[in-house]
Amino acid sequence: MKGFQEYFGETHNIVRQTVHKFVEREISPFVDEWEEQGEFPRDLYAKAGAAGILGIGYPEAYGGSAGDIFVKIAATEELMRCGSGGIAAGLGSIDIGIPPVLALGTEAQKSRFVPPVLRGEKIAALGITEPDAGSDVANIQTKAVRKNDHYVVNGSKMFITSGVKANQLTCAVRTGGEGSRGISLLVIDSDTPGYSVSGRLKKMGWWASDTAQIFFDDCRVPALNLLGKEGQGFYGIMENFQNERLQLAIMANMTAQMALEESLNYARERKAFNRPIAGFQVTRHKLVDMATMVEASREFTYRVAAKIGAGEKQVKEISMAKNFSCMVSDKVTYDAVQIHGGFGYMREYLVERLYRDNRILSIGGGTQEIMKEIISKMIL
Ligand SMILES: Cc1cc2nc3c(=O)[nH]c(=O)nc-3n(C[C@H](O)[C@H](O)[C@H](O)COP(=O)(O)OP(=O)(O)OC[C@H]3O[C@@H](n4cnc5c(N)ncnc54)[C@H](O)[C@@H]3O)c2cc1C
Repeated sequence: MKGFQEYFGETHNIVRQTVHKFVEREISPFVDEWEEQGEFPRDLYAKAGAAGILGIGYPEAYGGSAGDIFVKIAATEELMRCGSGGIAAGLGSIDIGIPPVLALGTEAQKSRFVPPVLRGEKIAALGITEPDAGSDVANIQTKAVRKNDHYVVNGSKMFITSGVKANQLTCAVRTGGEGSRGISLLVIDSDTPGYSVSGRLKKMGWWASDTAQIFFDDCRVPALNLLGKEGQGFYGIMENFQNERLQLAIMANMTAQMALEESLNYARERKAFNRPIAGFQVTRHKLVDMATMVEASREFTYRVAAKIGAGEKQVKEISMAKNFSCMVSDKVTYDAVQIHGGFGYMREYLVERLYRDNRILSIGGGTQEIMKEIISKMIL
């Protein structure tokens, strides 16, 4: 069995330091302001692109810096250290928008759609969810009708991360009949006539990320923008979910880790009844349970990641890792606020944001219940 340290080596440490410095310099001083504003500046993508951060884990041929699966994990963990899940999710929209292009796209499509995004010049997003179809992906209704060398797209996408800012949307559309086989993926340029965006949707957490509804009204999209063949979209979406679920599990573990660290510090310093609250056995045991859950969850997630990295199918295991890490982050962020008492409810305390930001993790990228459906089909 591999030990904790073995997942990360010299290369990963260099990546960590790069992202750490970037967060310290470009994000941390502004994070509270951006959270309150409900967005971060567009040029953060360009800065992250120039620092090589957006390209981490992507092929060099398209402007990235390839590496094993733990390189991306190290980068995500350090990015989460900024304390805003919204910033991590906003910058991370490219990590759900770009992989289907790399998986299904032609050489020409990859060269056109990927490098500008990794440089931070363009922003990519992923559009699967619709107002009437979330978990039931096979039931999406946005229609794309082929007319000569174009598709005419009509419909709408809901809850799209970076939806306001995005220049290109990797979008699930129905080109065929009912069900999963009728779904295709199109890259839609946001400048296309007929493409429009709602304002930023107001959310419980992830305040700094923009989340939008997108509308298509006779939007003419070049047939050249079809990824793979017609009907291959559902496969592309499902493959993409594996990566997204791993990233969400890492985000949940980091959320729990930060909530634990904040709680340990607070419990040492805060006094009640003439002693630090860490002096109460009930608090100590709570912290012990939090630490135990965080460590177990992180180890399991790393183990699953290592197997994915080795090319093993881990559909059941990644669903378990997502659910387990979210269960842990739900409990740990709840307890962290509790340990902080009234201050835990105040915005200037990090645990308040961690608690809110955490709530989406067991909903996005496939809900807890959908993960259980997947797992049940594989164990029964
Ligand atoms: C902040 C945010 C960012 C997002 N970003 C994106 C994005 O970038 N791109 C994108 O495409 N989507 C995005 N989403 C959408 C997200 O993936 C969906 O919200 C999620 O998949 C759930 O779909 P739904 O909201 O339609 O819920 P529904 O599918 O309507 O589910 C409602 C409830 O019913 C349960 N349920 C549904 N079906 C079953 C079943 N078969 N068995 C048991 N229970 C079931 C669900 O688990 C849930 O509890 C985002 C959402 C949010 C809130």
